[in-house]
Amino acid sequence: MKVYDLIIIGAGPAGLSAGIYAGRAKLDTLIIEKAQAGGQILQTSEIENYPGSVPEESGASLISRMDEQTKKFGIEKVIDIVKAVSLDGKIKTVTCDGGEYQAKTIIIAGGVTARSIDCGGEDEFLGRGVSRCGTCDAPFFKGLEVFVVGGGDAALEEATYLTKFASKVTVIHRRGELRAAKSVQEKAFKNEKIEFMYHTIVKEIKGDGLIESMTLENIKDGSITEIKADPNDGTFGIFISIGHNPATEIYQGKLELCEKGYIVTDEDMKTNIDGVFAAGDIREKNLRQVVTAASDGAIAAVEAGKYIEEVGDR
Ligand code: NAP
Repeated sequence: MKVYDLIIIGAGPAGLSAGIYAGRAKLDTLIIEKAQAGGQILQTSEIENYPGSVPEESGASLISRMDEQTKKFGIEKVIDIVKAVSLDGKIKTVTCDGGEYQAKTIIIAGGVTARSIDCGGEDEFLGRGVSRCGTCDAPFFKGLEVFVVGGGDAALEEATYLTKFASKVTVIHRRGELRAAKSVQEKAFKNEKIEFMYHTIVKEIKGDGLIESMTLENIKDGSITEIKADPNDGTFGIFISIGHNPATEIYQGKLELCEKGYIVTDEDMKTNIDGVFAAGDIREKNLRQVVTAASDGAIAAVEAGKYIEEVGDR
């Protein structure tokens, strides 16, 4: 079986940046991506904080240019789902749905996945009233009522953004106190279009094609409320914004993970296993942004190259 110099798992900003640096360093590299290049950044309608980004550039367009850049450097790419990894030893194996791949080094850049509220109808109405991305889907809810589930920074920022489109925004939070930073809370409290429902969870989302109603439970007193769409509108929107989980299930017991499940690395992106690096949102760090993901990827690829040279000499 062919042994690559490097396998990169994930084609978000961290994985693609690693690909660009690996390509320039002439490492024989394979990127494995489960669907389409991008990751969380695809959900951003405008990138305004990536240095040098073109005005009004979307996440999708930035990622497509990054993707083109990796092709220019001759990086191989395969669409496949990683099921298991064997990381010990000089040759690492990545087992996917479509087969096995081997390399001397691995960069794990698989990112995070949006948490789900696990209520009836959530999956059924995803894309038909339920959304996990305010910036992507807000314009579809022009003039309609929307609900945002969550009490963190992302939920409140999403609620504030949604007021530009929706007729009314209600934040549904499971506790009596919001988690968001005080400054973010203050901005939301000042917005007359935003209301709050505390101690509340969504039990079920119902409808015929589009959302027509939902059942809420007050977890403090057990009372149940049925929310029905305004008859003139016929439907309403539900934005779920309750945080993310690192995509690290397959690394449990194989790599050092922090309490929250993110991969622990040093500042050179090295994990506790020789030849295995992690980059981007999947690793334990304080700032998860495109710019820090791209930086992680560059460092990881350079360190992978150094590792191959060192191990080759042994
Ligand atoms: P987060 O801070 O983890 O907040 C998640 C929210 O969802 C919490 O209010 C949590 O409730 C709620 N939640 C979690 N699981 C739930 C469930 N199963 N059912 C109902 N509610 C649930 O996530 P985030 O808002 O996505 O932010 C992630 C990180 O990015 C944070 O560090 C945040 O500060 C940062 N961020 C920063 C900015 C900014 O600085 N502008 C913007 C966005 C995000 P509890 O409070 O009860 O746990």
